[in-house]
Amino acid sequence: MAVCFSKNPQKSIAKAIFLDRDGTLNVDYGYVYQPEKIHLLPGVPEALDLFIQKDFLLFLFTNQPGIERGMYTRQDVEACHQRLQTLLGPTRCFQEICIAAEAEVALHHYRKPSPRFILEMLEKYHLDPQQSYMVGDKETDAFAGLSGGIHSILLDSDYPRSERCKTLIAEGRIHCLPTLLDFARTLA
Ligand SMILES: [Mg+2]
Repeated sequence: MAVCFSKNPQKSIAKAIFLDRDGTLNVDYGYVYQPEKIHLLPGVPEALDLFIQKDFLLFLFTNQPGIERGMYTRQDVEACHQRLQTLLGPTRCFQEICIAAEAEVALHHYRKPSPRFILEMLEKYHLDPQQSYMVGDKETDAFAGLSGGIHSILLDSDYPRSERCKTLIAEGRIHCLPTLLDFARTLA
């Protein structure tokens, strides 16, 4: 019996949400490195449930320059993430977590706005960039998403926005929404 191999096997295409941490998932107190300072923002568990229901893989992507600046250690940050996972519960898991420890911005670094982590995950998990999103509360999050070739969602915050950011918003390349749950509800 002949066995046929398709020339173009239908790969299952994965899609992802890359999530900033402070100000997106938990309250941004500035340099959050103590587990007791991890406080979930309203609607975050519900938002993650919607992403998971819609088959998105979740990635956590956080800049932690305080590590390189000697303010705290990677172990401190990992303890915060254990606390975050405890608060979120066992069903809301991250596929991978990127702790960008660099204090300086460079393309070869992981520090946002570098898209390095996003690009690595797109390749590793065969993610469809057209169905993948970076969500954060700072313009550097949005710039990382754009540089990574995925959609960029900028949540409301008090952080300043540059002219470049305002232009990208006006051009519809960065999408603004009040909260993570508002974004989750827009997904088909
Ligand atoms: Mg943030």
